[in-house]
Amino acid sequence: MRQFAVIGLGRFGYSVAKTLAGKKHQVIAIDSDEAIVQKISDFVAQAVCLDSTDMEALQSVSIKEVDVAICAIGTNLEASILTTLNLKELGIKNIVCKARNETQKMLLEKIGATKVVLPENEMGIRLANSLMTSQVVEQISLSEYASVAEVLPPQELVGKSLGEVNIRAQYGLNVISIKEGNDVNMHPKADDIIKKDAILVVIGSDLDIDKFKKKHK
Ligand code: ATP
Repeated sequence: MRQFAVIGLGRFGYSVAKTLAGKKHQVIAIDSDEAIVQKISDFVAQAVCLDSTDMEALQSVSIKEVDVAICAIGTNLEASILTTLNLKELGIKNIVCKARNETQKMLLEKIGATKVVLPENEMGIRLANSLMTSQVVEQISLSEYASVAEVLPPQELVGKSLGEVNIRAQYGLNVISIKEGNDVNMHPKADDIIKKDAILVVIGSDLDIDKFKKKHK
């Protein structure tokens, strides 16, 4: 169980806080709007109404102890910058911020955010990728060039064993698990057969994942 602070409970922050708490993590949820704080209070360990640009107010909650602080204030740039600086000043190692555009992202990185996300842009890219191909069900970027992807097996691989197909040698991809309905085979072996309704979870470069998809369109 890890400890998180989520500051700014708009649509984005609220879903982050609720999801983390739903997975049994300790969440301190913060917003300057009392009504939103009330709304989330049943779901999280601690819900506090305060202005995060005010250092003294922030210090009044045990925010120093958290593993990760998420600043999910997007529209009010001044509040987002001051909050990030406060979190930095408090010595929090992992600070994740939400930005509305690239300029804001650059600025937040410069003042010390560990990671800055652009939810609308990233979701747009993910949606476009998922619409362009029916082969990939879900893809998670690990870096600028590598991903973990869920791939539906093309017809010609169905009925063959992983060893026979040799995806690693043929396509540079490692199969890390095979999903079949609710079953997840987390230790795929060479003699495991690829069934018709299976989903292969592979890890590899985006280039190799793309090549794999094209080859079997
Ligand atoms: P979303 O797109 O996630 O709905 P948004 O970017 O449209 O969010 P923002 O204006 O960034 O919305 O605000 C997100 C939340 O942050 C709001 O609930 C707001 O009350 C809260 N907030 C803004 N400034 C502060 C602050 N200084 N301290 C605490 N909470 C704040």
